[in-house]
Amino acid sequence: MRLADRTAFVTGGGRGIGRAVALAFAREGARVFVVARTTAEVETVAGEIRAGRGGGAAAHAACDVSDPRSVERAFEAAREFYGTDGPDILVNNAGIAESSKFAETSDEFWQRHLGVNLSGTFYCMRAALPAMVGRGWGRVVNVASIAGKTGAPYIAAYSASKHGVLGLTRSAALEVASKGVTVNAVCPGYVDTQMTTRAVENIEARTGRSASDSLEAIKRMSPQNRLVTPEEVAALALLLASDEGRGITGQAINVDGGTVLS
Ligand code: NDP
Repeated sequence: MRLADRTAFVTGGGRGIGRAVALAFAREGARVFVVARTTAEVETVAGEIRAGRGGGAAAHAACDVSDPRSVERAFEAAREFYGTDGPDILVNNAGIAESSKFAETSDEFWQRHLGVNLSGTFYCMRAALPAMVGRGWGRVVNVASIAGKTGAPYIAAYSASKHGVLGLTRSAALEVASKGVTVNAVCPGYVDTQMTTRAVENIEARTGRSASDSLEAIKRMSPQNRLVTPEEVAALALLLASDEGRGITGQAINVDGGTVLS
């Protein structure tokens, strides 16, 4: 039980990577608070945890991480659930990814990506870090992307938001490094989730290629010629969230099969 007696707050925990993180952390003994906008999905994940082997502890709330008031309300509910002043572990996983030609990128599109992916991460860190520092133990894991390290056509807003997450991660990490708190980012390549299904549909629509050809094109971007699984990302998040991860801070670690070698 690598997270026995720990409390965790997982954003975007209703499906995909966030769900895998919530389940993995619960299996290691953490009490998990799961949030996303779609209540039914986070309710289901919290239910899966409670029904799991050993009967894990979990609760959920609807939360839009791009809205600071919504984030505050969710943290208030989480504090009640934990019976403490905040989570030991925060996983900022909530994210959106849409594509747009640069010249056609609207203000709304730009603000939406920055609002969820970057500001949402900031709001949750601001809500969680002071109590971690006060306690002298804390872990923040930000789910960024290899798009936070490199650019690609049609994803300027997404890529800029994820580059921002890495700047936020590195600066906050240095600020709390002497307080027992680590702050890291994980940077997946394409992961087998609904987000990638939408990317496949988008390639189909724009190029006229079949769904399977579009998926193959995405897989070929990785030297391993495959999608990463949500569980592989969760395994890295677990290491960073555990006691064994205490020496790792301010890092942005790729889980991408070697797609980006930096
Ligand atoms: P999914 O689309 O499967 O899941 C995204 C999760 O984020 C959902 O639970 C969604 O729930 C939640 N979410 C979205 N917007 C908000 C919001 N405003 N407030 C709260 N929750 C929100 O995507 P993945 O699991 O694939 O992605 C998870 C993270 O991993 C994202 O940050 C993504 O950028 C990153 N990533 C994904 C990659 C991939 O290939 N899939 C590659 C690299 C990084 P709801 O819509 O109900 O709010």
